[in-house]
Amino acid sequence: MDYPSKIARQVAAVPRSGIRDFFELVLGRDDVISLGVGEPDFSAPWHIREAAIYSLEQGHTSYTSNLGLLSLRRAIAGYVGDFFKVDYDPKSEVLVTVGVSEALDIALRALINPGDEVLYHEPCYVSYMPGIAMAHGKAVPVATRKRDGFSLKPEELKKAITPASRILILNFPTNPTGAVASREDLEGIAKLCVAHDLVCITDEIYSELRYDGGDHASIAALPGMRERTILLHGFSKAFAMTGFRLGYACAPAPLTEAMMKIHQYSMLCAPITSQAAALEALEHGLPAVKEMRASYLQRRDFVVKRFKEIGIDCHTPGGAFYVFPDVRTTGLGSKEFALGLLEAEDVAAVPGDAFGPSGDGFLRCCYATAFEQLKEAMTRIERYVGTLG
Ligand code: PMP
Repeated sequence: MDYPSKIARQVAAVPRSGIRDFFELVLGRDDVISLGVGEPDFSAPWHIREAAIYSLEQGHTSYTSNLGLLSLRRAIAGYVGDFFKVDYDPKSEVLVTVGVSEALDIALRALINPGDEVLYHEPCYVSYMPGIAMAHGKAVPVATRKRDGFSLKPEELKKAITPASRILILNFPTNPTGAVASREDLEGIAKLCVAHDLVCITDEIYSELRYDGGDHASIAALPGMRERTILLHGFSKAFAMTGFRLGYACAPAPLTEAMMKIHQYSMLCAPITSQAAALEALEHGLPAVKEMRASYLQRRDFVVKRFKEIGIDCHTPGGAFYVFPDVRTTGLGSKEFALGLLEAEDVAAVPGDAFGPSGDGFLRCCYATAFEQLKEAMTRIERYVGTLG
């Protein structure tokens, strides 16, 4: 069988995730300290797990409405209204999905016509480019820079807009850089979206994990943006619920309806057990989010301080749970540095170019790992850098 000829061109053209390639090297090596996987080291709070268990105990093992349990959609609309200051109708403007992953996929598929240009800031989450390409869109990355704290500058975005531009994806705080956007920059970006009639998909998955004192603002709340924004959010990061696979999309009814059609025929609904857990998370889980954030902040400060002591330039990220140190001064590229570190000291971190070419020269380290492990990892990194002289 000539398998390559059987595989759709747009799928064949997408490269495998650089994170996955790197982590195949780590598989089966128990001695490695991993700063690689972008996942909280906490388990979901016990009362949330208990809600899932209780839901099963009560025999709730059925499908739900395609959009998700109405009780959960009401809780989501309430939370999004309070946190982001944008109101959505739980009956027609909230769709419960299998993680932000599914929400992103169906948002792109609902909006893109073949050849439409989709802008996004880079370095970025590994799914954006493949998600756009598999929906037959044209990916248009806009490089961000260390000197701007890896935030998207409106003037850089403006240069990348063409008559074929249709969509802008934003993600603040950003995976992999921890970047946050200033209110002024967000306003400039919003004006461009309105002027060029772009739909904005804003991936808010790290919104609760912001440390710079500023209240998190979503672009959805800015003038002229609610009508042209799909707000994506979920439970994976803030509530440490990655394995529950639960997220949501909030958008004006016609856009929600379009996404719902894809969701209905491909997924049917999100798992009911996870929906029960998510409802509990929103109703009683916010104090735990605060505690986890405080713990990440302590770890962020420690890691940034240690990189500086080691002599590696590392900007202080305003959010998420990643640092993105600049390893160029060591004379090594991202991959060389990461492979050397793994070989010499059994510490795994992801080469920055896994998040797009503009990430080359950097390393993504996830600090959502036990403090003792982090301390040891930084000692090992120091020893490794000492050998590079
Ligand atoms: N967006 C970003 C920026 C992410 O970092 C992740 C997970 N690493 C996701 C979306 C997907 O999250 P989930 O499907 O678990 O909700």
